[in-house]
Formats: sequence, C-alpha cells, structure tokens
Amino acid sequence: MAICEHCGKDISTLNNVQSGYVIYEMDANGSYSQVDGFEPDGNMNEWHCPNCSSNIALCEEDAMEFLSRGVPGDNILTREGKTRRVAFKRNHTS
Ligand SMILES: [Zn+2]
Repeated sequence: MAICEHCGKDISTLNNVQSGYVIYEMDANGSYSQVDGFEPDGNMNEWHCPNCSSNIALCEEDAMEFLSRGVPGDNILTREGKTRRVAFKRNHTS
C-alpha cells in the first residue's frame, strides 16, 4: 500500500501523464478524423497521484517502487515544488 504524501490517500495506482501531440485531418466541413495515435514529445513524462494529481515520480522505476514499497523514489517533487533527494541515486536519463 502506498500513501500519497500530498493528499494522504492510500493509492494502488498512479496516472502516467505524458506530453505530446495527436494529428487530426480536417476537411472543409470542419470534420476531424484522427490520423495517427498519440506521439509523446518527451517533454513531460510523470507519474501522478490519481486522487490529487500531485507528481509522485519522474521515472518508471520510482513509480514502481512507490507502488510496491509505499515510499517515494529518489527524485520526487515536494509540496513546495522542489525536487527531494533520498539516500540512493539513480540515473534518470535512460
Ligand atoms: Zn495524492
């Protein structure tokens, strides 16, 4: 069980929020049809609390660790919007 430190709710899933784009084809009648699926642009890829939408983790490893062990990873945003470090470090570039 994992407790969100922002809202205090016991959560068992996280929302993976990604930025990107979707392309639609538009005709002269103003009708739209989707051309391709969602394409992430890599600018944002975060795991949020499904209850309060606070950012819990910035990588999948931290998100998995939070859900399985109930503790946030080494690189989460605090309520003040600052990045918090804990004892261990991990490479987030991969
Ligand atoms: Zn929350």
